[in-house]
This record gives sequence, structure tokens and C-alpha cells, in this order.
Amino acid sequence: MVVPQQRIKLRSGPDGLLFFDRQSGINILVDEIKVPLEKWSKAPRQISVALTNICDLSCSHCYAPKDTSEIDFEKLLTWLKILDSNHCLGIGFGGGEPTLYPRFLELCKSIQNETNLAITMTTHGHTLYGSFLEKLSKKMHFIRISMDGVDSTYEAIRKRPFSQLLQRMASLKGLIPFGINYMVNTATIKDLDRAIEIAESLEAREFLLLPEEPVGKGKAIDSQTKYILQEWINNYSGKVRLSISERHSENLLTCIPLVLEKGLNAYAHIDAKGILKRTSFDLHGIKIQDADIMGALDILKRRPEETMT
Ligand code: SF4
Repeated sequence: MVVPQQRIKLRSGPDGLLFFDRQSGINILVDEIKVPLEKWSKAPRQISVALTNICDLSCSHCYAPKDTSEIDFEKLLTWLKILDSNHCLGIGFGGGEPTLYPRFLELCKSIQNETNLAITMTTHGHTLYGSFLEKLSKKMHFIRISMDGVDSTYEAIRKRPFSQLLQRMASLKGLIPFGINYMVNTATIKDLDRAIEIAESLEAREFLLLPEEPVGKGKAIDSQTKYILQEWINNYSGKVRLSISERHSENLLTCIPLVLEKGLNAYAHIDAKGILKRTSFDLHGIKIQDADIMGALDILKRRPEETMT
């Protein structure tokens, strides 16, 4: 079934009324309007989904569980339609490597036709070529490419030619807007200047800094590297928009448009086993029973948050 496409989607919450256009990515917040609690949109603003834990790379810092779990196509589509009707604005696919999900293009097409959700994904980027990329371009609103260091730093981590990554990113130009996710640790920090030059030359829309986390095979960023990173951010005056993961944003001048919409009102994650979590880093969550994703959300809201050690 094809649902009528809304050009502009409306969401209500503690910050006011938010108008969103998935095609352009434009957000307009009307914060003069105070929305009573009972009228707040019920679904999180954004949902990320680990479609599969399978990946054809084996990065030294990988956070994803090393198993072959894969999310059920029909169940996921049902959950996304429910979230869409409860005013969720967008879905972000990850993994593992989301483009290795067997029915990936079909899934994106169904979401495009049957919901008004914006579709984004985080990918290693090496599958983005040929007819797959062409078909994807009609269904995907934004792509995040993982890039940990440049040249030999990248190749030591990803075991793939950096020149191939550059080709893949260049081929996105004019086809799908994209940003770069840059994992920061002791090995990659020295390549930041070159990496941002590349981002600027390829017209990346965003450069997301992701200090390494102690999850899966990852180790926490050390304090010296974090200090160098903060200095680098403070000195940056280029034209690509910088972002940083929320847990590392202290002591930095940041712009947070929706300051009151927090926690599960703002974001939730579904892992490849169909478990709803507060974040992809959490170990525990609520198994979504059949179509009852809103029920799982209610239970999760009553649970205390996990802390990362
Ligand atoms: S970090 Fe990403 S690309 Fe690398 S092994 Fe893990 S899932 Fe695959």
C-alpha cells in the first residue's frame, strides 16, 4: 500500500511544534507554542535500527556483536509504520553493515512508499557503486560514511584501500547527500586536518566526530587525545558542519535546537535481535513482542538508564 506523501511532517513536544521535510531535511521549530504533555508525540523523534550484525570488514574497534542476527523484514516494517503514525521523523540504519541486509533495497522502497519517515544509514561505504547505488539514490535521504583516519591509518583499521573509499564518496556527489563519521582515537587524531580537507573537497554536509567508546572491541578515548580533539574543534574555522557524540560534548560550544526533548522522547535503538534499547551501546532492553513497539517503549521508559563503564 502506498501512503499519501506528506511534504511536511508535524511533531509536537516540550520544545514546541516541529515541522520537518524529509526531502530537504529542513526543520522548523515553532517554540512560541507550548504543547501540553498529553499532546506530545508518543514515538521517539529518531530511531536507529541494526538491520544485521553481519559485516564483511573486521575493524579493530568494532562495537557490533559478532553474530549473524538479522532483523525480521515484515516485523520491522510494521514497527516503522507504527512509529511513523506516532510522529517519529526518521530512521537510521546501521549494523553490522546495513547494505548487506538481504532485502535492503526492498526495505528502503517500502519505507519510502508506505511511510513518511526520512531514511538514513551509516555504512562503511564500500558497497556503494553500480546499479545498487543508482537504485539506492531514489530511496535514501542521507548517508553517513565511516572514515577512521586517512591513507595508511584507515587501511590498517579497515583493511580496505583508502583510494576506493574516496572513489565511493566521490560517486555520491549529486546523487545522495552524505556526511562523514570519524572515529577519534590515538591512531586517527593526527589525520584530522587531512580528513576535513577531504570532507570539504567532496562537499560532505557534516563531519561527525565519534571519540572511541569502550564497547565491543572498542577502547575508551584517552584523556590526552580528547584534549587534542577539543583544541582542534575550537580552532576549526572551515565550512563543513562539525558534530560530536552527545556524551563527549561537554566543554564545547554546541548548538542543540531541541533542548527539552530528551531520552526516549528523542531517540531509541532497535538491535538486530529486535530488542528496543535507549542507545546502541546499552546491553539490555525490551524484546518487542509482535507489533507492540509502543508497549515496549512504555516499559523501557519506566526502567532506569544503564551507565557505561
Ligand atoms: S566497525 Fe562497522 S565496518 Fe567495521 S567491522 Fe564493525 S560493523 Fe563492520
